[in-house]
Amino acid sequence: MPHAGPSTVIAGDRREPWQRELTAAVRDAGELRSLLGLPAAPAPAAVGEFPLLVPRGFVARMKPGDPHDPLLLQVLPVAAEDIATPGFTADPLLERDALAAPGLVRKYAGRALLLAAAGCAVNCRYCFRREFPYAESGAHRAGIAAAVETIAADATLHEVILSGGDPLLLDDDRLAELIGRLEAVPHVRRLRIHTRLPVVLPERVTDALVAMLRATRLTGVVVVHANHPAELDDAVAAGLRRLVTAGVILLNQSVLLAGVNDSPDVLAELSERLVDIGVVPYYLHLLDRVRGTAHFEVAEREALGLIDALRRRLPGYAVPRLAREVPGEAAKTWIGYHSSRTEIPGERP
Ligand SMILES: *Cc1c(COP(=O)(O)O)cnc(C)c1O
Repeated sequence: MPHAGPSTVIAGDRREPWQRELTAAVRDAGELRSLLGLPAAPAPAAVGEFPLLVPRGFVARMKPGDPHDPLLLQVLPVAAEDIATPGFTADPLLERDALAAPGLVRKYAGRALLLAAAGCAVNCRYCFRREFPYAESGAHRAGIAAAVETIAADATLHEVILSGGDPLLLDDDRLAELIGRLEAVPHVRRLRIHTRLPVVLPERVTDALVAMLRATRLTGVVVVHANHPAELDDAVAAGLRRLVTAGVILLNQSVLLAGVNDSPDVLAELSERLVDIGVVPYYLHLLDRVRGTAHFEVAEREALGLIDALRRRLPGYAVPRLAREVPGEAAKTWIGYHSSRTEIPGERP
């Protein structure tokens, strides 16, 4: 497939603009701090296994000079990551036990989650797969082929969820090849893509991607991931609107993060901004208890209070479902809403 790049592309560089952006992403905490006019600080040991990675376009949405910027807090490694907290482990979701085949995580009826790419365009410090052993998990070409065979052999699977890492790190040719293989499986009806790229690297919403989603016989569902309204600038909005024109169902999932979005004003503005763009707020996840992320945790009781506040301010469709993943359950656990006139039960132990 020919690559139509802008005229500034160096001759012979056939990469797409989003691929060049990714290569140029910030990978050094000292550089990130200096770009934002913040003083230097020692890096935690945890960056050794989970390095800093953030595209420059995402950095441009941060407020210079503000060490508490909600976008910065999501990506900057901090000393708190090295603190061991009881209950916070390497694989709290027991995903390694749920690998149905190399590269295929199967937990829920009718759906299978395919680890289509090992990496991401941004390393979110709260990531629940920050210690996931991608190298052994099958998130590579041979693993994907094996996963598709497993899907083909199980007629109860109606939906394939492309995840990772971020599946949109696959280039358009490889994505088209994968979608083609899934389309060839008669019982697969829906293709769901879980991705943060349209938010952190909006250039990824290429014409070829939009055309591919429009053309497939599979019902397309794209679940993006934004946690704060400042992530959704005009370029992101334009990319997301183009996905809407592809006829996909466009949803957002957020993680509730202390210091980032644990306020009714921020969450309400996030939901309104999403809906303005054409994205339906789907999930607000309670943090998965992954080692090194305890400083992001918001208590369940407080989370329920936030949902209550949203329900008083927003239309029902703009209120995300508050959910937690409990290993061994048949679905994500929805955390019940209680009117503020009833007692909110105490936190889980
Ligand atoms: C979250 C998740 C899904 C999708 O769950 P929905 O409630 O349908 O959004 C599917 N498979 C796995 C393994 C998951 O972790």
